[in-house]
Amino acid sequence: MITFTKLMLLSIGVIVIAVKWRAPTFNAESLKGARILVTGASTGIGEQMAYHYARFGAQIVITARREGVLQEVAKKCLLLGAEKAVYIAADMSNVSDPEGVVNFAVDQLGGLDYVVLNHIGPSPYSMWEGDVEHTRYLMQVNFFSYLQMAWKALPTLEQSKGSLVIVSSLLGKSTSPFAAPYTATKFALNGFFGSLEYELAMKQSNVSVSICTLGLIDTEQAMEKVRGMLKKPIPYPASEAALNIIATGAMRQSELYYPWTIRILCIVKDWCPSLTKYFVHNLYIDNP
Ligand code: NDP
Repeated sequence: MITFTKLMLLSIGVIVIAVKWRAPTFNAESLKGARILVTGASTGIGEQMAYHYARFGAQIVITARREGVLQEVAKKCLLLGAEKAVYIAADMSNVSDPEGVVNFAVDQLGGLDYVVLNHIGPSPYSMWEGDVEHTRYLMQVNFFSYLQMAWKALPTLEQSKGSLVIVSSLLGKSTSPFAAPYTATKFALNGFFGSLEYELAMKQSNVSVSICTLGLIDTEQAMEKVRGMLKKPIPYPASEAALNIIATGAMRQSELYYPWTIRILCIVKDWCPSLTKYFVHNLYIDNP
């Protein structure tokens, strides 16, 4: 039987280890001159990531569909201090565009150190009414294009000891109403890149994989979607989410939960599924 004294000693031991154990720290200097591709960078979290990378003096290729908007973001990146900032307009629902973007980035930068996959296609925040075609479209944009880009970029990331950063969602770990197709794409991403991380480690690959799980972030698109749906939305700032994603990739950490509190929900949901369902159901306004 464990005595009180043993329990105290054990607790003290755990506290000492926790204090002594140093988590890796983010060194922004390491990003100076780094060669980075960011997708979905015309707006929202991707745009904020581009600005942070620019301030750190990185070389950036940004992509999304709207060329005019990308041009403005690239201009601002140069003003903020990017060593290089170029853009390529691409639509990830076109099967050939994802690989084309990686080829363009490698040509422009002479290789890649970070590939940050962040884009998502538009999807309604509403009950699913049987539209399988839209789900198929979203799978191409939010999932298959990620696979295509990752596969194309792996050789150059291998050479540079680079990092693959996947932007995912709490809805890739836990379900909720009104976003069934989106949720499916994010679960697919988590499953796929979680497996790939093991396989790369087994091959002694130089490439790190970071999966970033985000809660509600105050981007225009997200806030528009949840307006009138959630009882009390508590969004977190896109700029801070972006910085956390960048730091996670730079430190080659396997996971990010932002805000950290969403990790609790991810743990509790398997222990107490009924309680979790009750909690999630009650986040929403009835009959929105
Ligand atoms: P936004 O909707 O603000 O931005 C999406 C980006 O993807 C835009 O740059 C858009 O640009 C681009 N895009 C859309 N369709 C396509 C397409 N077919 N081909 C290429 N690019 C496309 O998203 P957020 O910034 O809110 O989210 C960024 C990431 O964070 C996503 O992976 C999302 O799942 C994740 N996340 C966000 C949360 C939030 O609350 N905001 C919560 C949890 C996760 P354009 O229109 O010019 O193509």
